[in-house]
Formats: sequence, C-alpha cells, structure tokens
Amino acid sequence: MGLVIMKFGGSSMSDAGRIKHVAKKIVAKQKKGNKVVAVVSAPGNTTDDLIKMADGISSNPPEREMDVLLATGEMISISLLAMAIDVMGKKVVSMTGPQAGILANEDYTRARIKKINPQKIKEQLARDNIVIVAGFQALNPNGDITTLGRGGSDLTAVAIAAALKSDLCEIYSDVEGVYTTDPRVVKDARKIDYISYDEMLEMAASGSQVLQSRSVEVAKKFGVEIHSRSTFSENQGTIITSKEKIKGKEMESFLISGISFDKNQAKFAVTAPSLDTADIVREIYGRCAEIGVNIDMVNQSAVSDKKSVISFIVGGDDVKKMRKELDKIVLDYKASVSCAEHFAKVSIIGIGVKSHGSVAARVLEILRKNDISIDMISASEIKISCIINEIDMLKAVEELHKGFELSKK
Ligand code: ADP
Ligand code: ASP
Ligand code: MG
Repeated sequence: MGLVIMKFGGSSMSDAGRIKHVAKKIVAKQKKGNKVVAVVSAPGNTTDDLIKMADGISSNPPEREMDVLLATGEMISISLLAMAIDVMGKKVVSMTGPQAGILANEDYTRARIKKINPQKIKEQLARDNIVIVAGFQALNPNGDITTLGRGGSDLTAVAIAAALKSDLCEIYSDVEGVYTTDPRVVKDARKIDYISYDEMLEMAASGSQVLQSRSVEVAKKFGVEIHSRSTFSENQGTIITSKEKIKGKEMESFLISGISFDKNQAKFAVTAPSLDTADIVREIYGRCAEIGVNIDMVNQSAVSDKKSVISFIVGGDDVKKMRKELDKIVLDYKASVSCAEHFAKVSIIGIGVKSHGSVAARVLEILRKNDISIDMISASEIKISCIINEIDMLKAVEELHKGFELSKK
C-alpha cells in the first residue's frame, strides 16, 4: 500500500461539478490501495477576490489581518471537498494548515514553513480516512494563522510529502504538465516529460507559474519527486526530479528546456552622490530581505564626477512595497528615485546556456532581427534573462521558442 499526496489548484476547485470530479479522482486513487492526503487551493479566483475586498477597505491592511482573510479561501475548498467525498460514502476528514501541524515563522503573508508535525495526519490515515488539508496556510509562533505566499499550496503539498516520506506527490492543474513555455500563450509549446529540479526552479522563479518556486526548492532539498499533471485527463504529465534520475530516461536531451516570461516588471533608478552609493545599495538589500522583496539585475553607473545611478528590477506585487521603502531611503541621503513600469522579463532556461556559449549570441540575434530592444540582461549558469518593453513580450517569446526549435515535432 502506498501513500500519495495529491494537490489540486484553484482551477480544479472552481465549481461544484469540478469539486465532485476531484472527489472522484481521490476516491479512485484510494481504491487502487493507496492512503491519500489531498491538498487544495481556494476555489477559482477566490484569493484575488479577497485581496480586492481588502483593497476596498484599506490601502494598507495589517498583514496579520490579510492572512486571516486569505486563509478563508482554502477553508471553503477543504470543507466542500470533504462533503463531496462523504456523499460518495467514504471516510474523510478536512484539516486547516494549523490542524495539520504545519508550523511557520513570523513573516505574515510570506511565511516560511519551519516544521511539520504530521502526527494528526498519520492518526487520521491510520483510521482509513482520506485527509484533506488546506494549502497555503500555517500556524506561526504567536498562535496566528499565516499564509505562505502566492501559489503556496504547491509548497504545502511538497512539504507534507517530505514530512510523511510519501511515495508520490502529484500536483494537478489545468494543463497536462510543464511545457516549453506557457501552452496558453504559445499553442505549439511541447510538454516536457522529465525536468531537473534546477531547471524547474529557474523556470518557476522567472514566471512559469505552473509550480511555485519555493515548492521546487523544498522538493529538491528533500528529494521529493513531483508529478505535474492535469485534473482533466489521465495522461502522463511531467516528472520533476534530480539530474541523476533523468539521465538515460529522455530519448534526446534538450539544451534549452523552456522559456519563461513575467509581465509587470518595474525598473527603479536611484540617483545619489557617488560616495553614498555603496551604503544605499547595502540598505536596499537589507530592507528587501526584511520585507521579502526580490530585486534583480542590480546595476550601478556614474552619471557625472559626483553622481551615480543605481538601477534594478522589481516585479509584480513587490513594486508597491519597494516604492514605499525607497521613498524612505532616499530621504536619508541626498538622493532621488524614479520608477518606470511596463517592462517584462523573458528568460531562456536550460543546461545549454552554460555548455554552449552560442546561446546568448542567438538570443541577441533573434531579438535584434525582430526589432526588440533589450534594456537589461543577466545570465546565470542555466538561464539568460532579458528585460524588454512589455508590448514586445509575446513576440519575443514566440520568436525565441521558434528560434530554439522548442515546438512539438
Ligand atoms: P493551479 O490553480 O492549479 O495552481 P496555476 O494557474 O497556478 O494552477 O498554474 C497553471 C497555469 O500555469 C497554466 O494554466 C498555464 O497557463 C501556466 N503556465 C505558465 N507557464 C507554464 C509552463 N511552462 N508549462 C505549463 N503551464 C504554464
Ligand atoms: N490560493 C492561493 C493563491 O491563489 C494559494 C494557491 O493557489 O496555491 O495564491
Ligand atoms: Mg498554482
């Protein structure tokens, strides 16, 4: 008998019909002789709707209260799914994150899981119950409910799989697995059969939301193999595992695994006396670490004998937070700040970036041929990222996908 963790995202839980469908899949998995823990996200767009409700009340809601609000979404899902399984005559129990023993640190809205006490889940499994756990939430040292950052139900599922040493962690969504790029944007994107943790981590961190990047980090750390697959088909999806396990499984090895993209990137430029720039950079990094903001592509250049510009990229929800912090920082120095929005980041990911120096040249050539200018560029071992105008993003993704021959054969 195996132990399987099945995670269902918001799109799989968006209405009664879909919840009943998920219930059937869980019961079928149990009938095959498995014990099952299912982790679920809030129905459909509930989390976004709750954020909008908070915006309608306050422009600066306390993070503790934000967590209390957002955690309600997943609680709708666990109760309804448990009811659907109960109707099928099966033993089932739902648990919030705190009830399931998921313990996190004090960072409200972006908490990190510190530990899981799986005792209660184990007791319920031993009584032949199907266990349904609310994703995205945990208990912090103050006894408060906290949330784990957007897409955090993936992290809940992987962390439970690690804590229970389960045989399989299946992450179900509305696509059949991980593709060479978002299949909703590039129609002939190819499904990837196997991808290494490192490549998946880079794809997720640079915009491929099919998996949350922190969940991939935890999967790598604890050796949890993930099967990313569709709620709406029985087809094999994508296995995310170690490089060593993939060797020999893929018929061909691909130098470039995929292309990620991320809209809503803002470029901040802080102009300050050259003598102060090192202190300012240190302060920006320090504040970002404290408030959980990621900055990217930090660059410094002199504009005159006495003045320098520090520029960097911040994406998504972090832009608002960064603006507030910078307004405070520039007050302390004789500095000024500007912010240009409507940029996008396009990233090319694969082992070929390191082993084939020609990848960077090809990226530049493809973008140049299509009159797409690059504002900033950065490279790591397995990734090249370009900051371009948001209006050019889709064209850049399509042309790079074509140029690197990533489509279905
Ligand atoms: P869930 O609600 O189940 O957590 P998400 O919306 O978070 O699902 O993730 C699934 C979505 O990820 C897909 O609908 C797809 O549009 C998007 N996506 C982005 N990049 C990729 C990719 N490379 N492969 C597959 N899906 C991707
Ligand atoms: N409901 C949360 C979100 O929308 C968590 C998740 O879906 O994984 O971010
Ligand atoms: Mg998701």
